[in-house]
Amino acid sequence: MDLRPGSERIFVASNTDPLDGYVQWAPQKSVWLAGMTAAGVALGPICCSWSALALFLATSAVTLCAGHSVGMHRKLIHASFDCPLWLEHLFVYLGTLVGMAGPFGMIRLHDFRDWAQRQPACHEYSRHGAGFWRDAWWQLHCRLALRHPPRFRLEPRLAGDRFYAFIERTWMLQQLPWALLFFAIGGLDWLVWGICVRVSVCVTGHWLVGHFSHTSGDQIWTVDGVATQGYNVRLAALISMGENWHNNHHAYPGSAKLGLLPGQADPGWWLIRSLEVVGLAWNVRTPRDLPERPGLRRLTEAKLRDGVADAA
Ligand SMILES: [Zn+2]
Ligand SMILES: [Zn+2]
Repeated sequence: MDLRPGSERIFVASNTDPLDGYVQWAPQKSVWLAGMTAAGVALGPICCSWSALALFLATSAVTLCAGHSVGMHRKLIHASFDCPLWLEHLFVYLGTLVGMAGPFGMIRLHDFRDWAQRQPACHEYSRHGAGFWRDAWWQLHCRLALRHPPRFRLEPRLAGDRFYAFIERTWMLQQLPWALLFFAIGGLDWLVWGICVRVSVCVTGHWLVGHFSHTSGDQIWTVDGVATQGYNVRLAALISMGENWHNNHHAYPGSAKLGLLPGQADPGWWLIRSLEVVGLAWNVRTPRDLPERPGLRRLTEAKLRDGVADAA
C-alpha cells in the first residue's frame, strides 16, 4: 500500500482515519501506574519523613526538567537544540526515569497525538475531548486502537542507537537500581517517596497538564484547520517545567523556548540557556529561526520576546 508522510515520523495510507478507532484497556501501563499509586497511597502517609519528602521533590524536579521536558521533548522529539551525544543520552535516561515510557515509546506517543491533532478532525482520545474523569481513565489506563493506524518510522540516527534500544526494552526496570540505592540509604521512606509516590505523581501530573492544555486556558495564537488547539495553563509553569505554555508550543513546535511572553516562567528554557552559556548546547532554536506554521493566526497584540513578534 502507498504510504505518504503525515509528519516527520508518521506515514499514512489512503484508508488511515484518525477518527476511526476505539479505546481499549492497556494492561501494562494500567497495572504499572495503579501499582505505583496504590503503594504510594497505602505507604506514603505512614512511611514519611522530611528527608523522604526532599528526595521526592528533588528527583521529581530533575527527572521532569532535565529528563522529560528538555531531554525527551525539546531535544529528542523536536530537535530544538544540539548538544553532545553523552548529554542527550543522560537527559533521555533521566526522562525514562519519570516512569511513563522508554524513549521510542515517548516519541511514538507524542508524534501520533501530534499528527492526529493536526488533522481536520480526530478521535476524542487524541484531543483530550472526553471530559475530566473519562479522559483520566483513557489516558492513564487505556490506548487508542485505530482500525488503520499510520506507520511510525524512527530516523536512522535514533533507530540505530543501542543505548536507546536498551533503555526502551528495560524502561520499567530502570527504577530498580534507584529503588535499591534509596532503600539502602533511607529505608522504606525513601523507597516509597523516591520511587512509588514520585512515579505516580509525575505520570498523573503529566496527564493533568496535558488535559488542561488542550481544553482550557489562555490563547495567544490559533491554528486554522486543525482538530484541536493548545492552551497556556498559567498556574502550572513551575511544576511542569514550562510545558504548560502549550498554546505557544502548538504555534512553534520546534522552539526550544516555550515561555515566549514576558512573565512566562520556563524552567526547561533556563536549563537550555545555562547549557548554552557553558558551551554544552548550540543551534538553540526559537521562533525567529523557524518558519511560520501553516494556518497560524495571532489573537493578541501582546509584546513578545526574542523576535517572536517579527515572526508572528
Ligand atoms: Zn498538543
Ligand atoms: Zn511537542
